[in-house]
Amino acid sequence: MSNPEIVAENGQFKVELYLNVEGKTVELRPIGALNENSKLDLVFDRLSKLSEDIKEVVFDLQGVVSANSIGIRAWLFFIEKIEPRMSLRFEKASETFVDMAGIVPNIFGKRGKLVSFCVPYQCANCKRRTFEFFKPEDIKYEDGSPQAPEAHCKTCNSTLEFDQHPDEYFGFLKNFSGSKAKG
Ligand SMILES: [Zn+2]
Repeated sequence: MSNPEIVAENGQFKVELYLNVEGKTVELRPIGALNENSKLDLVFDRLSKLSEDIKEVVFDLQGVVSANSIGIRAWLFFIEKIEPRMSLRFEKASETFVDMAGIVPNIFGKRGKLVSFCVPYQCANCKRRTFEFFKPEDIKYEDGSPQAPEAHCKTCNSTLEFDQHPDEYFGFLKNFSGSKAKG
């Protein structure tokens, strides 16, 4: 992958842009804290200048570590503006994004496809927090309650304990039933 172009940057946040002309996609990697200084309008301006051939935006969201209410509003506005022009795919949604998705519908757009998201775990043996990425369809239900997939510590191979409340954490997935969770 080529070197990224840095589209919006302040001390706490930046967006890396990778252009894939052959695949007709652009990848955006927001990194840091999403807030009133995140300058997403600059990202939108940059996307507006791309060739009409570029039809899809792939977001890699693992780097977004926090978001405040102004940042969330700016994000929704940004997504709303690009969605009519390009299709949206969201990969590796961070814990911050999953938490937001539980509260804010349309955080991944109206028709965006969520590919994968972060699931946090704790290793009781190593006393360490860690995480894995799963697809929405990897989350199984028992008696209507979502279950965290089994995972093992990469250091000591112990079975990891899910480090969130399952009903709350996976609750956002009900917004992704039907077409959004498939394909
Ligand atoms: Zn361990």
